[in-house]
Amino acid sequence: MNCTKIICIGQNYRAHAKEMNAEPPSEPIIFLKPASALISDGENIEARLDVGRVDHEVELALIMGRRARQVAEEDALEYISHLAVFNDITARDIQSMARKDGNPWALAKSMDTFAPMSTPVLFSSVRDIHELDLRLCVNGDVRQRGNTSHMIFPPESLIAHISKYITLEEGDIIATCTPEGVGPLNDGDVVTAEISGVGKISNRVRRY
Ligand code: MG
Repeated sequence: MNCTKIICIGQNYRAHAKEMNAEPPSEPIIFLKPASALISDGENIEARLDVGRVDHEVELALIMGRRARQVAEEDALEYISHLAVFNDITARDIQSMARKDGNPWALAKSMDTFAPMSTPVLFSSVRDIHELDLRLCVNGDVRQRGNTSHMIFPPESLIAHISKYITLEEGDIIATCTPEGVGPLNDGDVVTAEISGVGKISNRVRRY
């Protein structure tokens, strides 16, 4: 699948917005990650030591099956062809500094290897995307647990909102935000993100 862009959603779970000291948003918060950051199961997440704290964020990824432009919410789910587990790796110190100074967070989200994504599964094979358990473990210890039913803006509303302004192409990815419990990753950690019925992705962390 060819991906022209990864659109990420910020603070789409109330408890995560709270842990980021942010008010729940009134409209989806959108930012981009480049496709060059994508890695697969078993590949290393690599982060330079001088970027400071680097966090995990387990998220449901929606993969577009065809071009979507100004799509109505009631039709939006028909545009999804696949789902995957996504780990929105974030250089948190760099992001926090950017937020404090009112600058873009692009660098904090866009580094090489900062987008681990599991092998996509067919959308039609998943029973209900509004009721999926998300879980993330570091070295076997559970760090994040959540359910897609807690999204502030559900997948159909994200697609309708984004496609009002940005054409989504076949293969484009929407990362729908993470539940609470984000935390740091250290050299040698093995981080495993999974979503019931969607899959699992495991990656080792290398700090250098
Ligand atoms: Mg995220």
